[in-house]
Amino acid sequence: MTVYMDNNATTSLRKEALDAMIPYYTDIYGNASSKFYKIGRDAEQALYKMRENVAKSIGAANVNEIYFTSSGCEADNWAIKGAAFANQAKGNHIITTKIEHHAILNACEYLEKHGFEVTYLDVDEYGCVSAEAVEKAITDKTILISVMTANNEIGTIEPIKEISEVAKRHKIIFHTDAVQAVGHMPVNVQETGVDMLSLSAHKFHGPKGAGVLYIRNGVRIDNLIHGGGQERGKRAATENLAGIAGLDKALELAVAELGKNTAHMKKMRDRLIEGIKKNIPYCRLNGPEDERRLCNNVNFSFQYVEGESILMMLDMKGVAASSGSACASGSLDPSHVLLAIGLPHEIAHGSLRLSVSEDTTAEEVDYIIEVLPPIIQRLRDMSPLYEGVAKGDK
Ligand SMILES: *Cc1c(COP(=O)(O)O)cnc(C)c1O
Repeated sequence: MTVYMDNNATTSLRKEALDAMIPYYTDIYGNASSKFYKIGRDAEQALYKMRENVAKSIGAANVNEIYFTSSGCEADNWAIKGAAFANQAKGNHIITTKIEHHAILNACEYLEKHGFEVTYLDVDEYGCVSAEAVEKAITDKTILISVMTANNEIGTIEPIKEISEVAKRHKIIFHTDAVQAVGHMPVNVQETGVDMLSLSAHKFHGPKGAGVLYIRNGVRIDNLIHGGGQERGKRAATENLAGIAGLDKALELAVAELGKNTAHMKKMRDRLIEGIKKNIPYCRLNGPEDERRLCNNVNFSFQYVEGESILMMLDMKGVAASSGSACASGSLDPSHVLLAIGLPHEIAHGSLRLSVSEDTTAEEVDYIIEVLPPIIQRLRDMSPLYEGVAKGDK
């Protein structure tokens, strides 16, 4: 049996999205900037329709507020660096959190080397940042606030609307990384009032290499990619029409099916959480255990074991999972998110992220609950730390 449980890392491409992409590889291969012949104009018109549809899907008031990018990482980098450099005359202070994706954290670190000052806010034990903490951190030099809508490692949903109101009150640009949120909870830029929002197609069953940065009209932001006049002169590069078509179709369906899909994912998530808690001692669920948890995320720490060893043994059983985030694997540091919620290093090291999708079945969940306990037990049996525990010492 093979079970894919790493949907926070990426998802499968859904059939409808693939079907929507094919024509742009075969028939409509024109450059959307070539206006003097039909095949170019066809591409341009298709692009306009897709932009319009994406705007509708996230509740944007204006089609011109949608900018297509190559990824979530690009959208995040553009938002942070673009807004920082464009608003430098007003101030040099940025507020973000300790649990952001590395696309945000490393972009902020880069800006620190270029004269900007960044406040990385603490989160509580569940990974929540409060609007009050954001407000307290504001100075007369603050030009940008960036807080993610939902965390990719432990699934915490942040109070984006409240933070957005704080930002608005202080007339500061507010960006949110909604890459994990889209397709997994309602995302509407009018309702939350955010100024900029990042999303990425491959996290909701669209293709890899296609993202969006929503930029509210009136927000000043410098270019990240210089060159031609695409994306209304804000982002050079010939548009990835097939990718955008897949993004658009996957997004449209994710929004249409949101209620049904999130209900199913929550069921699978909770079945997994209950099963693990019941069958494995000395474990801890990371992230909130209420409506503030993303519908598809499960993250546990198991004492006395190494996350990477769990992954290898799960792989032998056909299970794809993650320890922390895919970007962080390969490094020996424990996840910055798990450290930020206060886990000691040795416990953060023994963590496992299992993330379900709308396609996950109860049989797959039950298979994990069957194979995981003996894996943890085997690893603990090899651990000198656990030996004492098993014998009943402190
Ligand atoms: C996956 C992810 C990204 C990066 O998106 P890519 O399209 O893979 O570059 C950014 N932020 C979060 C929260 C993510 O989960």
